[in-house]
Amino acid sequence: MSKWVIVGGGMTGMALALAGSAAGQQVLVLEGAAETGGLTGTMPMHVGDTEVIVDRFYHVILESDTHVLALLDQLGMRDEVRWSSAPASVVANGVSYPATSFTDMARLPALSLPSRMLIGLSIGLSLLLPRFLADRLTARRWLTLTAGPSAYRNFWAPILRAKLGNQACRVAASFLVFTFRRLVSARLSGAGDRFGVLPGGYAEVLRRMEQKITGCGGEVRTGATVAEIVITGQSAEGRIRITLADGTQIFCDEVFVTTPGPITSGMLPQLTADEHDRLTAAPHLGVICGVFLVRQPPNDSYITYLVDDADLTGVIGMHALLPAVETGGAALLQLPRYCASDDEWFELSDEQIRDRLLAELARCLPDYRPEVIDWAISRAPHVVPLPLPRAREPLPHQTSLPGVHVVSTAQNTSGTLNVETSLHQAEAAVTG
Ligand SMILES: Cc1cc2nc3c(=O)[nH]c(=O)nc-3n(C[C@H](O)[C@H](O)[C@H](O)COP(=O)(O)OP(=O)(O)OC[C@H]3O[C@@H](n4cnc5c(N)ncnc54)[C@H](O)[C@@H]3O)c2cc1C
Repeated sequence: MSKWVIVGGGMTGMALALAGSAAGQQVLVLEGAAETGGLTGTMPMHVGDTEVIVDRFYHVILESDTHVLALLDQLGMRDEVRWSSAPASVVANGVSYPATSFTDMARLPALSLPSRMLIGLSIGLSLLLPRFLADRLTARRWLTLTAGPSAYRNFWAPILRAKLGNQACRVAASFLVFTFRRLVSARLSGAGDRFGVLPGGYAEVLRRMEQKITGCGGEVRTGATVAEIVITGQSAEGRIRITLADGTQIFCDEVFVTTPGPITSGMLPQLTADEHDRLTAAPHLGVICGVFLVRQPPNDSYITYLVDDADLTGVIGMHALLPAVETGGAALLQLPRYCASDDEWFELSDEQIRDRLLAELARCLPDYRPEVIDWAISRAPHVVPLPLPRAREPLPHQTSLPGVHVVSTAQNTSGTLNVETSLHQAEAAVTG
């Protein structure tokens, strides 16, 4: 039995630890925060005296998420998922239109008949776009070329903004190719197009994962921030020395680092200059998310796309997927602002962010004034590297340092982050 230390207790780290424990390794997870979960972490909120556990960031499961569903099976939780179709709408100049399907979107009044036909053509051509071209053009350039400026402005720009906020104009066309192919392969695989949610988010999933890890003799240590990882070759306990922020030292022969690229780079001073560059070169997409429990939602939609420029990326209505009984009778709204990792909003207080998000909401949906029962602000400066044109190849899992593996969003080249990809990546790192 060898000792595996896993840095980061998000879904990737916990999945690695679960796989390692099942394979008979002695596993230690070091998580810097007070709780495991990372981006899938949860928090308590209140509706009167009722406490409800809420996702810090909204999460849905697709019927094609085979790794997520297999994990839920393993934990005896598949029946906990609430499945439903997810209505969507789009708001332009304060007026709301249905946008649940591409057909709805293509019927938007701002789109002429030729624009609608060009939108169909742009999807078809994107599926055929060869990789070397997709990696060189921006999505904006490609879609403006294939669908025309009007369809880009009124159709594609709001969709891209809902995924990438004010960073949407920078990404490569490969982001589209990946997204369209994922949607098409989900359809072809026969999986349905309903969305699933776990009441209380991933809290219970993480609790059961930890239970299984500790049941196999492993340990999950929270509040354990890793400051440095170096190869020493000096200790009988292992060649790799991990130093925590409080000075504690841990030795092992295998370490898996699951933190975002820039944090990973700072922890591993012995990596080569090329490896540091690959971890830090791409600017990261960040997100600030207002989480609001409100008396009445603005509409029945899971997602409301915003055509007009806004400091808000979109409106996520979890009430469309979660029965109200799971949220103390209130409606759960999430107001994300996807942005650069150095966005000025990261400097603002929670109250300032709340006020700005609500002001933007009032500007975009002039007929809606939410009665807020409870609120919180979640922040993540390093969600995923932005897939820019001519990006560098990501770091392989095995670094130049023997026994030091990087398994994190640093290897995500698609710009689309989901738990399915995290679990798939963890599996690939363990099975080689
Ligand atoms: C707004 C938003 C919406 C999303 N929606 C969905 C969705 O609908 N469906 C879906 O499947 N996925 C969704 N995701 C993606 C999903 O949350 C991620 O794919 C997944 O959580 C990534 O897990 P991870 O472990 O790789 O990274 P992280 O969750 O970032 O985990 C990294 C961990 O490392 C810890 N850490 C950092 N520094 C240190 C240190 N120095 N020492 C020790 N620990 C450290 C962090 O605290 C964190 O726990 C969404 C993400 C966001 C942000």
